[in-house]
Amino acid sequence: MLRRAKWPAAGARSTFGKHYIHDRRRSWDVNMESEAGIRAASRVAPLVMKFGGTSVEDGAAFARLAGIVGDRRAERPVVVVSAMSRVTDGLVAAVQYASEGAVESADRGVDELIARHRTAAERLLDAREAEAVGAALEVARREIGELLRVITAHPGTRRPLYDEVVSRGERLSSLLVAAVLRASGVPACWVDAHRCIRTNAEHTRADPLMKATEAATQAELVPILTRGEVPVLGGFIGSAPDGATTTLGRGGSDYTAALVGAALRASEIQIWTDVSGFLTADPRVVPGARTLDNLSYAEAAELAYFGAKVLHPKTIQPAVEHGVPVRICNSRDPGAPTTRIEGRREPSDQGVKAIAHKTGVAVVQIASARMLGAYGFLRAIFEVFDRHQTAVDLVATSEVSVSLSLDDTARLPEIVRELETLGTVRVEEERAIVCVVGQGLRARPGIAASVFGALPDVNILLISQGASSINLTFVVEGDRLCEVVGRLHSTFFGS
Ligand code: ASP
Ligand code: MG
Repeated sequence: MLRRAKWPAAGARSTFGKHYIHDRRRSWDVNMESEAGIRAASRVAPLVMKFGGTSVEDGAAFARLAGIVGDRRAERPVVVVSAMSRVTDGLVAAVQYASEGAVESADRGVDELIARHRTAAERLLDAREAEAVGAALEVARREIGELLRVITAHPGTRRPLYDEVVSRGERLSSLLVAAVLRASGVPACWVDAHRCIRTNAEHTRADPLMKATEAATQAELVPILTRGEVPVLGGFIGSAPDGATTTLGRGGSDYTAALVGAALRASEIQIWTDVSGFLTADPRVVPGARTLDNLSYAEAAELAYFGAKVLHPKTIQPAVEHGVPVRICNSRDPGAPTTRIEGRREPSDQGVKAIAHKTGVAVVQIASARMLGAYGFLRAIFEVFDRHQTAVDLVATSEVSVSLSLDDTARLPEIVRELETLGTVRVEEERAIVCVVGQGLRARPGIAASVFGALPDVNILLISQGASSINLTFVVEGDRLCEVVGRLHSTFFGS
């Protein structure tokens, strides 16, 4: 809210001296008959479309992308793109080889990656554009080779040069996307992402500098949009205050899309990936799981925590802060259902949205007569987990015992040994957490009755509700998991 208040109202002069900054509240109020109306329409909030690695995995995927963007020309798209699938992994491996002195192995890997780009370019571009892209690929190959040799000779340069090498994946995919869009008749304009996303100097996982990024992104992209062109930029890439290339951490292209969407006050940010949004349950467990129409940010975060690999909620925070909704779309099946994650406004209570779960969980119970009426006991227990850097998921306490669940069991033996100095410890492994998710569940009577009523013969080992208003979470034996999730799914969504 604070930030938005700084912007001029529609029609006023923005910091860029032009009428670029769109006021979303007034966008409906455009009269296309008048000169002013047409000008106003050109200020319609842009649509940020981010395509992940599998959405640019090969020539066929690039061609689908061009169709998807072309169909949405009227919505003023801005395209943010990941590296082609597996390219970032390949570049990370090349840096690793180079730092171990195996520069020939690094070169071989890079040659393969360059060849994949070339194949896509030759398939989709006319001779002239293919030649231009081919030249850019040759320059990239040479520069990456030089950088890798510097890393081999001076291992201390590895961190900053990692970003320089690894960011080439997005640089090349975005160049190729811009060329493919032009070949399909969309006037696309490649934008160097360094010029938009400004970060601190924390190489390999830089944090964006929000104000500078917002101003730079507007300054770069708004003139392109105003010319009626489609800006295309690589995700993941940033630049430090001294101009050096940085990257936003693995998976960082979603973050770029959110930053761009927030800076432009986009109408929506679309994350085009290879799944049809968030589902009511894991389809491997419930074959009839359906795509959720909409989710609140908190619900999406909860589902992501429980392993929905659709997107990392932290990465869309900038969008949420500006009230820009995020939609998950399937680039392999553009007509398939999508999930919209609402911006700042949380939808009100809509009942149960999804059943999430996590397997391989351990439950640790510590019982001690010392706990009776004592204080400091919980702290002593948590300090043990702290020392072993192990996160605890659920906690339940009784008069003389504490039960906890954790999914990271790597340090469990050491943890148990220390906990035994505090009381009697019992460990149950191969358990599963089930989480019934929905905004406002805490305030809705009868949810617990429906959940546990569907499971009369199931041993419930631990229950947690109330810490957040959006979930009811409990632990069951791992071998009952599929049955439990399946039954809850039919209870709340039918079969
Ligand atoms: N290409 C980068 C990665 O694989 C960033 C992204 O795809 O989001 O981590
Ligand atoms: Mg991703």
